[in-house]
Amino acid sequence: MSGFEARSRAALADPRKRANVPRFAEKAALNRVRGFEGVDLEALRAAGEAARARAIADLPRLLDALQAKLEAAGAVVHRAATGADAARYVTDVVLRHGRMVVKSKSMASEEIGLNDHLEAAGVEVVETDLGEFIVQTAGEAPEHIIIPAIHKTTGQVRDLFEPLAGRPIGDDPAELTRFARAHLRKRFLEAPVGITGVNFAVAETGTIVLVTNEGNGRMCSSLPKVHVAIMGMERVVADLADLAVLLPLLTRSGTGQKITSYVTMLNGPRRREEGDGPEEMHVVILDNGRARVRETPYRSVLHCIRCGACQNVCPVYRQVGGTAYGWVYGGPIGAVLTPLLHGDQELGHASSLCAACDDVCPVRIPLHELLLGLRRDRAADSAGALERLAFRLWSLAWSRPWLYRLTVRMAGTARGPLPLLRRWTRTRDLEVHR
Ligand code: SF4
Repeated sequence: MSGFEARSRAALADPRKRANVPRFAEKAALNRVRGFEGVDLEALRAAGEAARARAIADLPRLLDALQAKLEAAGAVVHRAATGADAARYVTDVVLRHGRMVVKSKSMASEEIGLNDHLEAAGVEVVETDLGEFIVQTAGEAPEHIIIPAIHKTTGQVRDLFEPLAGRPIGDDPAELTRFARAHLRKRFLEAPVGITGVNFAVAETGTIVLVTNEGNGRMCSSLPKVHVAIMGMERVVADLADLAVLLPLLTRSGTGQKITSYVTMLNGPRRREEGDGPEEMHVVILDNGRARVRETPYRSVLHCIRCGACQNVCPVYRQVGGTAYGWVYGGPIGAVLTPLLHGDQELGHASSLCAACDDVCPVRIPLHELLLGLRRDRAADSAGALERLAFRLWSLAWSRPWLYRLTVRMAGTARGPLPLLRRWTRTRDLEVHR
């Protein structure tokens, strides 16, 4: 049994996950549809695609410009070639200032396993996004790019929070949130270092942009003495005009909102004349395989703005959730990105190829074409000469109706003894159309 298959079976055996993931994914997908009502969506998607293509085409120059602007404003920029390099750098910064960090949601930090690195160095890590706080308390990984606890009921959250609170809280989401807010508020005030992700980084102005609904990103980046922002190198955009296109595409695609409650734009650490903000700001620009992917036919996957819309509509993701994909990114974006960055080639097959993901992607990434490409690469790498010959003959036979009918009839009698066909037809019909 493959790793994906084993993880999927485990996910499918969890009745609450099986009920909650599709329910909330569908809700998010409906919110997205409502969010774009009255908007010329195709024009906006075309503009978004163009903005992302511009950024990735010009990536080296834009990153240099971003770095120059940030450094001129007093930030320290670290270019990390690998996840290990990034995690080491961030851990060193943290250890210079204390043993505790508050953290807002960052997929890049998940990607580099930052929490494990920090905890191994004796640092207490406090996730402050409500969903991340829930999965951290449960000892789990995020199940969705923007809704990390999509698989949890309020009853499950209560069971996680009440031992922390040492008192009954109940199932009311408002009460659960009130507890989390009070619990986290103290930590914001204590932590010497705040760590955030980066939704966009504007090269023209040297601006780091954080998009949140809970305000925790703003707290992490303004209350602690030191702010560390971790960005995948592809997060950069050319200018504020492109940001103005991409920001509403992200928020409407992710949550259906015209704009999120908080959009924080940061240009370096606190200036002498300013009353608040961090004294030190570090921006970690993470490669971790992205520069290599940029030179392949899969470059367009770097256009992704991590809105999660493809997850919400994917029939595979809706059944198995995100962690079944085995790494940080679940759903169609994970099925493409993980093989490219992390090397798990089987994920190219974790798709029905229905192309629902293509239809919702705000920057028009041809996800199902990329998935097909990954499958082709894998077949070219792994198939032996005999297997290639068999599939060539199959293709020839099934492009001729009379041969198709004959082979299907033969397969009907042969599938009992042939394990491959038996497995294939366990969930499919082999029908002969006369
Ligand atoms: S691939 Fe497209 S739909 Fe999926 S997360 Fe990225 S931007 Fe959103």
